[in-house]
Order: sequence, then C-alpha cells, then structure tokens
Amino acid sequence: MVDRRRAQVVIDLERVRHNTQAVRQRAGVDVLAVIKADAYGLGAKKIAHAIGDLVSEFCVFSIEEARALAGAGGKNILVLGPPLSLNADAYIEYRCRPAVYTAAQAGVLAKARPILSVDTGMQRFCCPGESIAEVIEAGGIEEAFTHAMRPDQVHRLVALLAGRKMRLHAAGSGLLDDPACRLDAVRPGLALYEGAVRVSIPLVEVRASREPAGYGGFASERHGVILVGYAQGLHAGPCRINGTDRRLLEVGMQSSFVEVGPTDKAGDEVVLLGDGLTEARVAGAWSANPRGVLLRFCAMANPQYRGV
Ligand SMILES: *Cc1c(COP(=O)(O)O)cnc(C)c1O
Repeated sequence: MVDRRRAQVVIDLERVRHNTQAVRQRAGVDVLAVIKADAYGLGAKKIAHAIGDLVSEFCVFSIEEARALAGAGGKNILVLGPPLSLNADAYIEYRCRPAVYTAAQAGVLAKARPILSVDTGMQRFCCPGESIAEVIEAGGIEEAFTHAMRPDQVHRLVALLAGRKMRLHAAGSGLLDDPACRLDAVRPGLALYEGAVRVSIPLVEVRASREPAGYGGFASERHGVILVGYAQGLHAGPCRINGTDRRLLEVGMQSSFVEVGPTDKAGDEVVLLGDGLTEARVAGAWSANPRGVLLRFCAMANPQYRGV
C-alpha cells in the first residue's frame, strides 16, 4: 500500500520520448541514448522500452548493465566504461560492444567489434594519441569516441582520426547545440531525462513559527514539515507549494522544515522536483550535479510511470 505521507516519484515516459525526439531533430545524426546508472535512476529497462524506436543504439557503462537490459528496446548497446570482461562472446551474447583503449584489449575483444575510446583530455579509460594506430590495428576498429566536455576536445578527436573514415562521436548533452560537435552521432544522457521526473510529498504539519524554531532557529512566519530528510538524500533548496516557489528551511535526518504561505495546510503537496522546478535549479542550490539530483530523487520511492 502507498503511504500517502511519503514521497511520490512519478516518471513521465512521454516526456522522455518528447526529449529524445527533440534531440534527434536538433542533432540530425544518430542518437546513442545513454542509459547508464539505470538511466540516471529513472529505470534503464523502462526507458529503453520507451525510446527504443527513436534511437540508434544505447550506451551503458558496464557489461553487467547491458546484460540486465535483456534486449529491452531492441537496439545494440555500447559499453563505454573499461572492459572489465575480456570475454568477447559475452559481449556478443548481450548485443553489446566494448570500448577499448589498449592493443591487448582490442586484440582479445576483436570479435566483439570493439570501439576505440580516445583521450582528448579526460585521462581515464582512454587511449592516448600516440597509441591510436596500434589499438585500431589490433582490434580491426571502425568506430571511435571521446568523452568531450568542450568543443576543442571534439576537434582533437577529429584531428587524431583524420583520414581513417571511421564513425566518430563525442557530444553528450552539453555539446548538442554546437553543430561542429555532432559528428556522426551524439550520446545524450541528461537531455533525455530533463523535466521527466516529478517528486512530491505532503505536508504532515503546518504551524505558525515561534522563533527560534528548528535546529538552527530559522526565520519564517509559518512552517510545515515533510517526512523526508538527509537519510533519503535531500538537501536544503527550492520547492513549490500550491503553485508558489518556497524553500526547504532546514533538513533533518528523516524530516524537513518547509517555508509555507498563509493558506497552505497539512495535506498540501510539496513539490521537490518537477512542475517547472528543474533539476538544474535544485542542483545549483545543492552545489551538486543535475545527474546526481535525478539519481537521489528517483531513489526516494519506487517510481510510478506515466505514458507509453
Ligand atoms: C555519461 C556519458 C555521456 C552522457 O552524458 P550527459 O552529459 O548526461 O549527456 C556521454 N558519453 C559518455 C562517455 C558518458 O560517460
């Protein structure tokens, strides 16, 4: 049974589809949808089912994630992280291809059609420029990528592979707007999930504040209380109540104090994410990454799914 005093997480699969279509139109090249880390908490299998017909391939971090997808979404999978398994047949069985960055990895995994991870600055699980020729040779490689944060890193990938006629991709969500960064495909994660998660929880108490209230003596005329706190990964930041921007005044271990207006009452819904309150805004308040914000919120309750 759903406890109506607890957080509710609703994931809008239509919105994820809409985002995916928008990225596809904007980029005009293949979309390799990044659904690693359980699609940033949204649920990789559900997301794969929802957008499989709109994308060219999926990307995950590990072969275990590829296996867990069990063919959901019906597309092939790129394993972007280090090749922790060197069993080529396992990659083939799970419809995935490993990223490699040494000649030894490329040679052992050649049968699984590996792709080359190129170092353009990240310096993690990737091949330095001087070893590229050797790794390509060892694996019969026809596709290369880099994890680029800036356009100059994309240009570096292109320069390093110049004249080789390989399929190249570099851009995640941050570089989609730069036509020069799109190359043969794009690998968005966050851009697919933005605005698709709504998290809410009802006020269990509302009262006039007799200051000092709470742990630190916060200043507010009235305050409410919700049953979610640090233990669930919450931090102080923005929220919305009855269509108005409010804030979490103080976060405790398993409950938090919320600023409320004069007509807000117990039972009213506090929106922690969604309804125009973006993951970027919450991330700013938390000094965190919007991807991490999504992961935290999606873990607060078993998500309910809307659409598709
Ligand atoms: C996570 C990841 C992406 C997607 O990043 P977003 O910024 O969320 O779009 C793309 N490429 C690689 C290699 C990644 O690890």
